[in-house]
Amino acid sequence: MFADDASRTELGFVMPALAAMEHAHGSVIRAVLRARLKGGRMPARQLSSWRDGIGTLPNALALHLGGMVRTGVTVRRIVRARHGFAIDTGERGSIHARAVVVATQPHVAAHLLASLVPGAAGECARIAAPPLAVVFLGYRRDQVAHPLDGLGYLTPGCEGRIVNGGLFCSSMFSGRAPAGHVAIAAYIGGARAPDHARLSTRTLIDIVRGELAQLVGVRGDPVVARVRQWPRGLPQFQRGHSLLVERIEQALCDTPGVFVTGNYLRGVSVGACADCALDTARRVGRHLGRASETAIWFGDARTATGAAASPPQR
Ligand SMILES: Cc1cc2nc3c(=O)[nH]c(=O)nc-3n(C[C@H](O)[C@H](O)[C@H](O)COP(=O)(O)OP(=O)(O)OC[C@H]3O[C@@H](n4cnc5c(N)ncnc54)[C@H](O)[C@@H]3O)c2cc1C
Repeated sequence: MFADDASRTELGFVMPALAAMEHAHGSVIRAVLRARLKGGRMPARQLSSWRDGIGTLPNALALHLGGMVRTGVTVRRIVRARHGFAIDTGERGSIHARAVVVATQPHVAAHLLASLVPGAAGECARIAAPPLAVVFLGYRRDQVAHPLDGLGYLTPGCEGRIVNGGLFCSSMFSGRAPAGHVAIAAYIGGARAPDHARLSTRTLIDIVRGELAQLVGVRGDPVVARVRQWPRGLPQFQRGHSLLVERIEQALCDTPGVFVTGNYLRGVSVGACADCALDTARRVGRHLGRASETAIWFGDARTATGAAASPPQR
């Protein structure tokens, strides 16, 4: 799921419920059996998305925040200044702020925090995020033998496949493919084989078509084929990651006014990122002495996200 090597991953960070079951019962299977005997079920998560896709979220935030946000601006450096911080954006000038939230990927946070909070910067620099390629293919329903009656599949390393796994997007949520069609997203690269993510678009599509033909029986040319290559994909939560996050938080505690938020602190899902961001916003509010304003502001933003353009799908 994290395009990582499972043997190096910190289970307690990526699947805390499973880790707790093992801790309490000495084995996950024993925990499941005991829960079953008592009529309980495995812990489950709800899947959610937006009718018009993830772009709904930043669009709703942009609508709500209006001119407060400056887009297309790259922060080059953050340094301490009188009563706050100077944020250097190169040709776009310098911004003065009483508090700074670094909400970038960890390698950028490492660079921006280097002189300000070297302890946190050093920890951020240790977080790997190997490249990932996503291949989206659309087929007519009659081109795919498999009913696609699930969320998708993951391939174990021992099978020697190039595709890490695929999501049956049109089975997960409505509106992901036109009537009579299906949509599949396949993931290549990650820690298992970072170089595969850098293959040419043509090669990536051919690889996915070949593996989908074997696994779910696709036939013929896809109706749609798109590739998105991410030079840095998901952050890897290797053993010791919880301690790494603790050290980042400790270093930041010693530097009032500087905050971080992002997918390497609580988890990669958009929901985990939103929780982390809300928590950070509350801390910023407290730092600025405007706790109630921050709470109301983000309460509205959440409502706007769900209601303004399209409601989240579950
Ligand atoms: C291929 C892929 C598929 C995924 N699928 C799902 C999914 O189905 N469901 C799900 O819940 N999650 C999914 N995720 C995970 C989720 O999308 C991410 O974890 C989440 O979007 C990360 O949010 P973030 O705010 O931490 O970072 P980002 O969204 O990466 O935001 C960081 C921002 O910082 C900006 N930035 C960087 N440097 C600077 C600078 N110097 N100055 C100014 N701005 C800067 C960047 O432009 C970027 O906009 C997926 C991730 C990947 C890579």
